[in-house]
Amino acid sequence: MTVRKHSGLSFKCTERGKSMKITDLIEKLAVSHSLSLDEYEFLIENRCDEAINAAAEKAVCIRKGIYGNAVYVRGLIEISNICKNDCKYCGIRKSNTDCDRYRLTRDEIIECAETGYSLGFRTFVLQGGEDGYFSDDLLCDIIGAIKSKYPDCAITLSVGERSYDSYKRLYDAGADRYLLRHETADREHYRLLHPDDMSYDNRMRCLNDLREIGYQVGCGFMVGSPYQTNRMIAKDLKFIEAFKPDMCGIGPFVPHKNTPFGDMAQGTAELTCYLLSIIRLIHPSVLLPATTALGTIHPQGRELGIRSGANVVMPNLSPVLVRKKYELYDNKICTGEESAQCRDCLETRMRSIGYEIVTDRGDIKRDAAYDAKTSLKGEVINKNGCL
Ligand code: SAH
Repeated sequence: MTVRKHSGLSFKCTERGKSMKITDLIEKLAVSHSLSLDEYEFLIENRCDEAINAAAEKAVCIRKGIYGNAVYVRGLIEISNICKNDCKYCGIRKSNTDCDRYRLTRDEIIECAETGYSLGFRTFVLQGGEDGYFSDDLLCDIIGAIKSKYPDCAITLSVGERSYDSYKRLYDAGADRYLLRHETADREHYRLLHPDDMSYDNRMRCLNDLREIGYQVGCGFMVGSPYQTNRMIAKDLKFIEAFKPDMCGIGPFVPHKNTPFGDMAQGTAELTCYLLSIIRLIHPSVLLPATTALGTIHPQGRELGIRSGANVVMPNLSPVLVRKKYELYDNKICTGEESAQCRDCLETRMRSIGYEIVTDRGDIKRDAAYDAKTSLKGEVINKNGCL
């Protein structure tokens, strides 16, 4: 039996038969990119070192076949922590009166992009709470300014739920990608995580609108969020299988002291990494970040994420003065360093495990075999000898 050395965690396969069934399921997933709900649940429920290692090995092999040892970077610009929503897990929820609110000006945002460009970033992610100040006009103006200055860059937006017309205007202004985690694919779970005025249906409506308009779309969820069961995670995986996002953000849930979930347990690095591997097997070419939340709960979280199949990191480009204020969860890392330091630190970390951060927009590489879901499926894997 293999022991998972890199995390220091150990999950023994107690029954030989079970562990064999899991490794069979992992093989099956790598070839067909699909399992039943029950099978996904079984994979999660009965995971052990052998399965975790097998999934990570295959995921890394597949990822290397498509992206080599390149790791894409996205410069994260946290444009505002003002939010009209009251998500029960989030530190910048509107009811948190202890939160020191800020919003960046148009010029500050453009300056962050300028700094980022000189540091080799070719994707900027504008993320924030749902702050009405950032009207379509203002966001279109900012997107236009960045795109005309840096036409070789991609802009990703992550500013929550908006109307079809709003998404369309932002897309026409030059935004390329949109991150909107679905948070959970279980309707009842969605209700437990959110206030009454938010709905699962609207979240899904937004994701479908974004796709229809032409964005590269990212969904995702928190691992270990309150009330989450293995069955619910299986539903998330089934959703990812069906939706085929271009990007998928998953990170551990980390409690924030000034939220209703302040005393809840945090998610684990072990399960997050295992799910990163599984998602890579479901969707070989997906852009999959090793998130800051993963780096927050484990000192080598981002390295572990990459070694489990992730291929994106998102260093912070926000002005140092506001970083601590954009606190979605407690103890967030990288709040004290300048952008250049953040980038260098990640570059060193990635090099230490044999990966290179590249100066590239980092678009998804289309995998025709997977897209077509024809008899060619699995070809990428076979071509690279991963089976
Ligand atoms: N307002 C935007 C951006 C939200 S912040 C939107 O609605 O998309 C980005 C993500 O951070 C969220 O989608 C959520 O999944 C994650 N997040 C929020 N609070 C968190 C917490 N306490 N622990 C871990 N991740 C959290």
